[in-house]
Amino acid sequence: MVSRVIPVDDFDLVIFGGTGDLARRKILPGLYRRFLSGQMPEASRIIGAARSDMDSAAWRASIRDAIKEFAGANVQDKASIDGFLERLHYVPVDATGKAGWKELKGLMRKDVVSAFYFSVAPSLFGAIAERLKTHGIAGNASRIVVEKPFGRDLETAKDLNATLAEYFDETQIYRIDHYLGKETVQNLMAVRFANILFEPLWNAQYIDHVQITVAETVGVGGRGAYYDKSGAMRDMVQNHLMQLLCLTAMEPPSHFEPDSVRDEKLKVIRALDPVPSDDIVRGQYREGLDGPSYLEDSENPDSRTESFIAMKVKVSNWRWNGVPFYLRTGKRMKARMSEIVISFKEPPHNIFTEADHPRCNILTIRLQPDEGIDLRMTIKEPGPGGMRFVEVPMDMTFADALGAAAADVPDAYERLIMDVIRGNQTLFMRGDEVEAAWAWTDPLIADWTNKGDRPVSYDAGTAGPEDALILMHRDGRRWREISA
Ligand code: NAD
Repeated sequence: MVSRVIPVDDFDLVIFGGTGDLARRKILPGLYRRFLSGQMPEASRIIGAARSDMDSAAWRASIRDAIKEFAGANVQDKASIDGFLERLHYVPVDATGKAGWKELKGLMRKDVVSAFYFSVAPSLFGAIAERLKTHGIAGNASRIVVEKPFGRDLETAKDLNATLAEYFDETQIYRIDHYLGKETVQNLMAVRFANILFEPLWNAQYIDHVQITVAETVGVGGRGAYYDKSGAMRDMVQNHLMQLLCLTAMEPPSHFEPDSVRDEKLKVIRALDPVPSDDIVRGQYREGLDGPSYLEDSENPDSRTESFIAMKVKVSNWRWNGVPFYLRTGKRMKARMSEIVISFKEPPHNIFTEADHPRCNILTIRLQPDEGIDLRMTIKEPGPGGMRFVEVPMDMTFADALGAAAADVPDAYERLIMDVIRGNQTLFMRGDEVEAAWAWTDPLIADWTNKGDRPVSYDAGTAGPEDALILMHRDGRRWREISA
């Protein structure tokens, strides 16, 4: 199978925060891989803009190091890296002051796509947006890309939306949630809407429950102070898990177009019931053999911030009536694993003996590791001895099923940046979606904050607190094993 790379239009991409961690770890190595694939037009340019006082040569040298460290061992070709670095330019810019803006304007070309990636703290978004407009650097066709966190509650998200709306139209604003750029997440839409097989079964009549897990092995060390003001609910559920839930639960959009898809996702968020506190388990990791406790990492001995959360969520509409969605995410867990599991109901009537009871079909959409889709089916065990059942996987691990084409799959950031250049907002969050997600999240956070609830502690390297297992057990269900 040959991978198809469709070149994008000529562009100038400005990265505010071009010297920062995100730019060095994800954005520039990603752009380098797109360059290698031949997707970047000859004249396209990437302009770093940040506070550090350096010239283009120094920025190129630092990005060379970043590519060495983060782009992957199989793409370390000196001539290619040199070719990519030639497209890089740097301007020192003060986001909140006057320095650098005239120089930036001087660098920008007319009549090419212009995009501005705000890879800086959200407190700088307004100042940058304003200066891009007042200096005539961004026009009505320019695009801006903003990173998470998009607000820390409904009020701050509304403020941020209002600030950006002063300078840019919604069609120009690309709010990144990199989970939406993952291959499997888009495949979830392909599986649902490009096949006849699943959609007739995709409802409360045939689905018993859904599990969404995003488990990380790392703790919050290094960014403990930041995380302590956020927690798993704000950092992961309000955005990433919410997006996965939306794509799983949404109605088929009429077209695969930005507003058709985003309208359907918004309806899901608005259909979410408030979650009773009994259906939420918050946890904090204890000290383990290989690392400190959350309280040590956050440097806040009295912290009540959760590093783990599990919850049972209901989508109140006809399709999902009575089908629980169990969400869980945490740090310092047993393995790094993200997946969506659709657990189907048992066949309505068992024609076999009790002993030969068929098991439920399970469809797993794995985001990491080994992106792929796996469907568990019950079949007859081969050979004599009557009707004995075995459960077999129909495994579509992309690397196995698609060979070289899967190896070439761009990572989430690469794909999303190219979508910005193409002007395709389908995989970006609209302002009203983000606000609706906060409107659902805020009262849950307010409830445990007002009660002064403390998270329960859990051992690092496990599946989280015992209470999270009980959340499922009391419904007669079990979480899937967390494994790499
Ligand atoms: P960072 O602290 O490493 O880098 C910040 C960048 O902003 C630097 O380039 C700095 O020069 C620039 N900057 C700061 N103040 C400035 C000013 N007044 N004028 C001009 N430039 C200024 O931060 P980061 O980790 O790269 O994160 C950037 C944004 O991306 C943040 O909003 C963060 O929440 C978000 N984000 C980061 C990651 C990640 O993995 N690092 C992941 C998701 C989202």
